Amino acid sequence: MKPRLLISYAHPDDESFGLGAAIAKLVDEGVDVYLICATNGERGTVSPEMLEGYNSIAELRLAELACAAEKLRLKQVFLLGYKDSGMMGTPTCEDSECLWQAPVADVTRRVTDILREVQPQVVVTFNKYGGYGHPDHIAIQRATTRAFELASDPTYITEHAPYRPQKLYYSSIPKRQLQLGIAMLRLRGLDPRALGKNRDIDLVKIVDNVEPTHTVLNVSNYFEAWDEANQCHKSQLGGGPTWRMPLALRRWFAPHQGFTRVYPAPASNRIDERDLFMGVKLDDMTITTPAQQTLAPAAD
Ligand SMILES: [Zn+2]
Repeated sequence: MKPRLLISYAHPDDESFGLGAAIAKLVDEGVDVYLICATNGERGTVSPEMLEGYNSIAELRLAELACAAEKLRLKQVFLLGYKDSGMMGTPTCEDSECLWQAPVADVTRRVTDILREVQPQVVVTFNKYGGYGHPDHIAIQRATTRAFELASDPTYITEHAPYRPQKLYYSSIPKRQLQLGIAMLRLRGLDPRALGKNRDIDLVKIVDNVEPTHTVLNVSNYFEAWDEANQCHKSQLGGGPTWRMPLALRRWFAPHQGFTRVYPAPASNRIDERDLFMGVKLDDMTITTPAQQTLAPAAD
C-alpha cells in the first residue's frame, strides 16, 4: 500500500505558499498527496488586469490552484466551495456562505467523509491559531482535528466506511527561523507586522502563537519546485519578501519545513522526527473506538 498524505487547508495558495517545498519532496519520495481546499479564495486582493479572461476572483484563483496541483503532482484536490471569509473582524466574515459562518459540524462531516474516502495514514492541517490568525484557517483546523478523531468512529455515519488515520500534524515553522525572519525584515526596512499581498500577515503574532516543532523535513533541494508552484498563484504574489530572497540565502536561512505532531502526542517538545511517515504501518486498516483515539493536545 502506498503512503498517503491528506492536507486540509483553506485557500487556493495555502498549499503552495505554505507547503510547496514539502509537497514536492514527499511526492518525489513516492507519497500520494491529496488536498482539501475549503474556500474559493474570493476575498484575495487581485489587481484588475489579472482578472482578464475570468468571470470572478474565485474562478481565477481556482484556475491558479489547478496549475499548482499539476506542478506539485497532487493526486487529487477536493474543493469544499465555501466562500472565503476574508480577514477577522471585517464584514465579509459575516457572510452566511463563508467558511467562518458554516456550522463546524457540517464542515467536520465533509472533511471526515473525504478522510474516509482517501484513507491517508497522515493528515496535516493548520495550527490552532490558523498559522497567522485567518478565520478560514482556524475553521478548517477545527473541523479537520475533529474529523481525525471521528473518522474511525463506527457510530459516526458518512457515505464512506470508517477508517483510522495514524498521525495528525499541524504545519509549523521553527520559532528560531521566524525570529531570524523578523530581524531580517526589520534590517531591510520592511514591517514584519503587515506582510503579504493582503497585508494581513503579522509575523510577530505568528511567533507568539507558534506551537512546538517536533518534525522537520529538509526541503532545501525543493525550492525551485516550490517557486514554480508559487508562480501559479500569480494574482497573490508581490506582497511578501520570501520569494524575492536569493535562492542560496533561502537555503541557508530556512532549509526546514516544520510540523507540530498532535497525534500520537509527543513525549516531549523537541525535534524527534525527520519523516512524517516514521512509525506508520502502511497496511494498518484497524478501526478503533472513539475512546481509543482521543486527541491529547500538544503541550506548549
Ligand atoms: Zn489561506
